[in-house]
Amino acid sequence: MILILLSLTIDFSGSIYTFKEYPIGGEKYIMVDALVKKMHLSFHYDNDKGVMTLQKERLITLIPDNPFIRIEKDIHQLVVPPLRLGGKPMLPISSLDLILSSLLNKKAVFKNGILEIETSINLYGIKWTTEPSLTRCSIECSPTLKHFFSKNNGEWVLTLFNPIYNKEILNTTARGLINHIEIEEGDGFLKIRFKTKDDLPMDMIRKKKLLNIEVRKFEKRKIKTIVVDAGHGGKDPGATHRGIKEKVLVLEVAKKLASRLTEDGFNVIMTRTKDEFIPLKERTRIADETHADLFVSIHCNAAPNKKSMHGAETYFLSAAKSNWARTVEATENAAVRFESENSADIPDLDYILNDLAQTQFLEESQQAAIYIQESMIHRCNLYNRGVKQANFYVLRLNYMPAVLVEIAFITNVKDRKYLRDGKFLEKAANAIAEGIEQYAKEHL
Ligand SMILES: [Zn+2]
Repeated sequence: MILILLSLTIDFSGSIYTFKEYPIGGEKYIMVDALVKKMHLSFHYDNDKGVMTLQKERLITLIPDNPFIRIEKDIHQLVVPPLRLGGKPMLPISSLDLILSSLLNKKAVFKNGILEIETSINLYGIKWTTEPSLTRCSIECSPTLKHFFSKNNGEWVLTLFNPIYNKEILNTTARGLINHIEIEEGDGFLKIRFKTKDDLPMDMIRKKKLLNIEVRKFEKRKIKTIVVDAGHGGKDPGATHRGIKEKVLVLEVAKKLASRLTEDGFNVIMTRTKDEFIPLKERTRIADETHADLFVSIHCNAAPNKKSMHGAETYFLSAAKSNWARTVEATENAAVRFESENSADIPDLDYILNDLAQTQFLEESQQAAIYIQESMIHRCNLYNRGVKQANFYVLRLNYMPAVLVEIAFITNVKDRKYLRDGKFLEKAANAIAEGIEQYAKEHL
């Protein structure tokens, strides 16, 4: 006697399930139990009424030996009815396409004896980018795929809800700055756990069809190239008071600062060396193009309605934190109004702050600001107004830390005396240079 074991194959968008076939009375059946288990269906069998219900996306009600089935509220007729064999409910293979497509709400078709269930996959693949200081795991998926990213017990966990994918895509291994990756498949979710080298932080950035999970290692950069930016210029005088123009003073300080830094061996780039108008956008473009290591913008303060205000303050980029920071920010950003209409579109700060690199620069910018501010206070006998955060357009750089120095107030009697003195301006330039030197020492 030859025993032939037959089986049915179901291809559910790349996942292969096989079921034992039972030939009964010229028809072939599979066991409901096996289907329920493998395809994660809900199943209930009412012994008294002899009614069984199957549920996934939709609910189906069947009665053994009865060709009529109910799909939600609609009645359909099967060619071959379900039956019970030794108490176990069985489904006819000839009607499985209708039953499964109704249950799953997907297209199900027999092709060459295989029941293929087609579905819209929403998780397409996992791709990697590895660079010396960056490892990125890109989850390619539908923009509608829901996700949750969190840190638990030293592990970063990405949970994807109701993902539909081909199993092969899960064959992936950790690399670069990611030490360990573990994938857990659950009912209605997929968890991807990451561990990073030296417990480096991870970040998730959602782009339309990508979920980028990234780790970056920041190398302290050596300070070699510095952009010195004299604020304002040309048709934009900056703050003016009693014949003093900010654009003139700051150019003098910037020139002195540049020559001192050049003597120190830094490579220095100035955004302007004469009295000319340079749009803020152009200044940030110059700086970004040079890929310099630090950007220093030189300004003078003014408070026409509060002439007692005096002293030095140094800013780094951030959303303005105090009312005063907002005021200074509004004044310095006002140069935009001298620009042509088209160049006045200021990108949204949030967008830039969301960038991981910029976050890192904020820290370095703060450090540089602290060194410069302390040096100015120490050397120039100026009132210490502190290091502050504000949203200056000119500090929105992509590739380097950036600070903005407000040397003193041209609206204050004492400060103005300083500012009229060429020796003071030189002292201020040297103080800023020394702050930068200190900062650079930290980055050797
Ligand atoms: Zn200014």
